[in-house]
Amino acid sequence: MPTPDFNELYRQFDSPVTALDCGQECAPYNPTRKPFCCDICTAVPAVYHKEWTYLRKNTDLWKPWLGSECPDSAGDLEKLTAQTPGHMRLVECLGPQACQRGFRSMSCRQFPFFPYITSDDCFIGLAYNWDFEPYCWVISNLDRVTRTFREEFVEVYDRLLYEIPHDYESYADLSDEMRAEFTRQGRQIAILHRDGSDYWLDPQSETLQKITADQFGKFGPYCISGPQAGSA
Ligand code: SF4
Ligand code: SF4
Repeated sequence: MPTPDFNELYRQFDSPVTALDCGQECAPYNPTRKPFCCDICTAVPAVYHKEWTYLRKNTDLWKPWLGSECPDSAGDLEKLTAQTPGHMRLVECLGPQACQRGFRSMSCRQFPFFPYITSDDCFIGLAYNWDFEPYCWVISNLDRVTRTFREEFVEVYDRLLYEIPHDYESYADLSDEMRAEFTRQGRQIAILHRDGSDYWLDPQSETLQKITADQFGKFGPYCISGPQAGSA
């Protein structure tokens, strides 16, 4: 199995998710005025152990997450560490004012997406982390995700899921968890497919219904009106 080369992976996966700076869209809704995914009290980044080795050698941007920064989440260290896959570790950066774009972690670059893996083991495209529906502007504006970002994402994860088999297993588990949760909620899953089109995926049958991305749901402060798209 080749060792992932993070210098090369970072160069290969460097395009922003949307053409505009999406941090400007979500930060006004966060009391800290930081983009939600860059606020350590909302999202704790995880890096691969080999990525940590690369980052430590090349930048002072990152340090281990100690879980003591946010008074409301004291005690979360143990819980979040237990939930973190064994091939990764939790870290924190210097914050959005001191971000070094070239040394953003893979988890920064992919946010809010993860590679969706079907129950019969196919990486078919991008799904999003549903916990962030009320916070992340991108999730409510999937039609704004650029072709370039989507293509880079698929290319990089085709490689990583092969080079880090534990990653494949943990994303297969996350996809399974999403199917169970969306079945419980009676909702369809939004898929930005690797074929370039957009689909609702039925979480029980895993059948795909082609739609246009502007038909996907809107959430939280980004919700315009009416019932959420994708409800059964
Ligand atoms: S990815 Fe989502 S949470 Fe992160 S800056 Fe963009 S809109 Fe905000
Ligand atoms: S490294 Fe940059 S993009 Fe990543 S969490 Fe920190 S501020 Fe946000």
